[in-house]
Amino acid sequence: MQKGECSVKKLGFGLMRLPLKDAKNAASIDLDAVRPMVDLFMERGFTYYDTAYVYHNGASETAFREVVVKRYPRHAFTITDKLPMAIIHKAEEMEPIFQKSMQRLGVDYIDYYWLHALTRESYERAQRIGAFEFVRAKKDAGKVRHIGLSFHDSAEVLEQILNAHPEMEYVQLQLNYLDWEDEEVQARECYEVCVRHGKPVIVMEPLRGGALADVPAQVEQRFRACAPSASVPSWGIRFAASHEHVMMVLSGMSTLEQVRDNTGYMQDFIPMNEQEMCLAYEAGRKIRTTIAVPCTGCHYCDGCPQDISIPEYFSIYNEWKRMNFSKSEAMKKYRNLQRGLASACIACRQCETRCPQHIGIVDALQQVAQQLEEKYK
Ligand code: SF4
Ligand code: SF4
Repeated sequence: MQKGECSVKKLGFGLMRLPLKDAKNAASIDLDAVRPMVDLFMERGFTYYDTAYVYHNGASETAFREVVVKRYPRHAFTITDKLPMAIIHKAEEMEPIFQKSMQRLGVDYIDYYWLHALTRESYERAQRIGAFEFVRAKKDAGKVRHIGLSFHDSAEVLEQILNAHPEMEYVQLQLNYLDWEDEEVQARECYEVCVRHGKPVIVMEPLRGGALADVPAQVEQRFRACAPSASVPSWGIRFAASHEHVMMVLSGMSTLEQVRDNTGYMQDFIPMNEQEMCLAYEAGRKIRTTIAVPCTGCHYCDGCPQDISIPEYFSIYNEWKRMNFSKSEAMKKYRNLQRGLASACIACRQCETRCPQHIGIVDALQQVAQQLEEKYK
């Protein structure tokens, strides 16, 4: 495909990693910092936003109302929201949550509404409590325009869901060059299931929670040699967008600079050529060997009764393992977070049931504790 041939803008603004006023408070979104990000995004012709009931402990939806809904006409933007299947256990919980989302967003209708983060386990629950019928009824009532699901399990489970629910119009998938052949995520196989069922794909985590924005030096050198002016994150976003059945790629942007960079190369998107795709696959294989805990920093595991800062601890541990800083620095960063210690985990496994990456969090925290806590020295 040649430059200019692809007219649909495939970049969406993910509202789950917005800038904060207080790094320890996920709900403290810095609206003054977000406004110029949104304005630049809109100015460059992008219109698609993605939020969820649980993002930023509920503050993502209200931030969207403040920075977009109150400042732009309804026809100027597209909003996706989600029914949080990880925290819904009874049928009667769905309507209040939907109403709360509508109220927080401040809109009369939602363009796309997903069953959020379906896995084998939450799919069974969704069936039992009538979640598919619920979103279908919202569509019939004109409260949502399109319905679908975001998904975190095997291709086999996805096949089962789409066979049983052809009314689902779209699938949101974790797809990136690191997870493409990953045995757990099965990005390629899940994508192929969507293609067989004729479901357009919306991509989440194209940068694998930031892991593909900060790649090992050796990989970065290979990227620079191939395309000197392209940013490292552009490889992740363009890889995802280059797949024919991908309708939209979401980027959880946190700074104005990220918006400027992403919208720059996605404004007039050029799909990757064969050489670039091969280089991305090769980079994925290389990076895989450097990641100790495959955490994306999504924070779905928030709410630990021991106040353990799970994603932050995994981030420090991963950085240390990649030798981005020394062990003493890692221990200092760990201490400075001043949250519950990893060794205080009581193995209740509440976090593990919510983790879309299926990480053995209890075991991984033991490794963190043994390496980064003073008492084990
Ligand atoms: S298993 Fe450990 S880390 Fe997870 S929620 Fe329970 S106490 Fe917290
Ligand atoms: S441990 Fe799992 S749920 Fe928690 S932030 Fe990491 S990927 Fe998300």
